[in-house]
Amino acid sequence: MLEVLRRLIQDVNDADSLEDALALIVGQVRAAMQTDVCTIYLHDKGSQKLIFRATEGLNSEKVGQFGLRFDEGLVGWVATREEPLNLDDASAHPQFQLVEGLGEEPFNAFLGAPIVHQRDLLGVLVVQQGDHRRFSEDEEAFLITVSAQLAGLIAHAELAGAISQTNSVAVDADGGARLSGIAACSGIGIGTAAWVSPHADLQTVPSRQAADRRAELKAFRDALASVRSDIQQVAENLEDELGPEDRALFGVYLSILDDSALGGEVAALIKAGEWAQGALSQVMLRHIRHFERMEHSYLRERAVDVRDLGTRVLGYLQDADRRDVDYPEATVLVAEELTASALGEIPRDRLVGIVSMRGSANSHTAILARAMGIPAVVGVEDLPVKRLPDQQLVVDGYNGRIYVNPHVDLLARFEGLLAEDEALFEELAPLATQPATTSDGSAVALWVNTGVAADVQRAREFGAEGVGLYRTEVSFLLRDRFPSEEEQRQLYREQLEALHPSPVTMRTLDIGGDKALPYFPIEESNPFLGWRGIRVTLDHPEIFLTQVRAMLKANEGLHNLRILLPMVTAIDELRSAKELILRCHDEVKSEGFTGPLPPIGVMIEVPAAVYLASALAEEADFLSVGSNDLTQYLLAVDRGNARVADLYQALHPAVLAALMHIIEAARSHNKPVSICGELAGDPRAAPLLVAMGFDQLSMNAGSLSVIKRVLSAFSRDELKALMETLLPLRSTQEVVSCLDAALSARGLDSFLRRGESTG
Ligand code: PEP
Ligand code: MG
Repeated sequence: MLEVLRRLIQDVNDADSLEDALALIVGQVRAAMQTDVCTIYLHDKGSQKLIFRATEGLNSEKVGQFGLRFDEGLVGWVATREEPLNLDDASAHPQFQLVEGLGEEPFNAFLGAPIVHQRDLLGVLVVQQGDHRRFSEDEEAFLITVSAQLAGLIAHAELAGAISQTNSVAVDADGGARLSGIAACSGIGIGTAAWVSPHADLQTVPSRQAADRRAELKAFRDALASVRSDIQQVAENLEDELGPEDRALFGVYLSILDDSALGGEVAALIKAGEWAQGALSQVMLRHIRHFERMEHSYLRERAVDVRDLGTRVLGYLQDADRRDVDYPEATVLVAEELTASALGEIPRDRLVGIVSMRGSANSHTAILARAMGIPAVVGVEDLPVKRLPDQQLVVDGYNGRIYVNPHVDLLARFEGLLAEDEALFEELAPLATQPATTSDGSAVALWVNTGVAADVQRAREFGAEGVGLYRTEVSFLLRDRFPSEEEQRQLYREQLEALHPSPVTMRTLDIGGDKALPYFPIEESNPFLGWRGIRVTLDHPEIFLTQVRAMLKANEGLHNLRILLPMVTAIDELRSAKELILRCHDEVKSEGFTGPLPPIGVMIEVPAAVYLASALAEEADFLSVGSNDLTQYLLAVDRGNARVADLYQALHPAVLAALMHIIEAARSHNKPVSICGELAGDPRAAPLLVAMGFDQLSMNAGSLSVIKRVLSAFSRDELKALMETLLPLRSTQEVVSCLDAALSARGLDSFLRRGESTG
């Protein structure tokens, strides 16, 4: 049975259309179960009927010709209850109904199973037989298994069908097709999809003897030179968008082609007699396969880079003139996996959105998209990439959704939201230079989170009062080796100087989880519960010491540095880290540097740290809540997994109880406590966080003005009353509704959809 199932899934996967997929299913299931009939009914959300879509054994002329309501027939019974129905005599069942001309009369035995995908009823799968007999338990289990396994494939085929408009399946109640992924950069983008494709196919190149090795070698070198210059051009296109830090990524990218790396291997093969195309393809494919087998998302991303480079070189070698694609005025870039070079290929003023099949909120693409401020949705598992080009797309970067060929009403709604966003942006612009206060004039400290170089610039533009979280690992991620102490010192100095005299909180290297360095691979089956953050750096004091020394030296004469430790779960980790920091301080002093020991803080982002908050607050100088990880670990919901994204609720009552506990712990030792996860920049959550007593809210620079506006609508007393109403609530839904009502009552409805992390 397993073998039958495997083959069926493979065939359905390869099917060209929904019709083909359904025909394959009914044919193969009937054969495997040796029944007389196999039929599929699919749920049409427009008419709310179960449409007769494919059959083997009944009258196929009826396909697409009729549908049953949920209260009609045995099929309606299965759909309503979403459970299987196994009968030896179908006609004896009270809900049995004969459909004229279908040819069901001779069949007595009936077995139906619902087809359910992500809680959504897609249809019903039925087998029937002439004999008066009940299907066996094994047969029933098989049909349920087939139905569960095929649900995802049917959903995918349905979507592809809706997109190519070959049938009338309405996938979304509003019309058009809706797909869900992970919100990577907030905002709305409306435009035409463009697919940045690989230029040539490495897979199809044959192996052949070189007629003239020297000429082949020259052709290869010329192709390399062309690709280099293309990529340099791409880097230049991005010059205004990205700082030197981010552009360094392209250097890493190019180094893959160096003689000391893959370029050398290709040249060696050519010298040994293989023609240039064959040599290139063999070397590249070998490395791609190697990277693709790696567990780690970062390393798998390198496979994409290698493939991208290889196909570009091949494109030149094949003398295939690069298509001069004329990108639409408003382009949504669509890709299975985005590379930095693909991002740079579309002129910035035409790029309005980004959608990718793979990737998580912390992937490279997401980091770059955020730095460029382009609405992005990643991890859209069901994305039918090749069918999207030239279709109209709406990218909802607030909720992690995209809409394909939206119905006019839906489109009008998003156009309205986009216009509102633009108007709001204008309206809020003057707030950048004003401090954040409540309506009764009480000040609130709003800080920013930084990572890429461009963030510092934006932080200044938007009037940040400090940096609550500088994610140092981002600049480590964009390189091909650990940065030296001096390189780090310069980087940190820029941050400290740019915001001086405001405080800058630098987090020590937080790698592991879904953030792995290409040159320091960590392979684990459960990386979020593995070697992460402080665990890695305490095991590698040389990395930690170099980083802290660089931070202390950068602080010379400025004295606005604060050091923050990620992923702390035990007091020993804080003590060991403090010891190392003290050691560094003594060392740099002996080298002639002056300056005080900076405040040392602990991130509270795992449940253990919540329960230990009082002890941590006593021994640290400040606490900072990482609500992204705290939510993930408290609720046991992977923050990067689109399948459980609905369960990722940062306003869950359990998270709120934890926040209160942390604040009380910090208060009891008179230590400041801030919050620097996405929740701080959520307009729905910010009033509550201020009411709870956080000393600073640290967020992306783009959120500052919105949060200032929201907070200015509440007095301190109103905030307190709001908090007292909210804390006893028992469900996320109740909390969210209550906050929505509070914002709505103050005319702040337009900010509600910006609450992206609240679930
Ligand atoms: C957090 O976990 O909330 C946080 C701020 O850290 P990061 O998102 O970098 O894990
Ligand atoms: Mg974290």
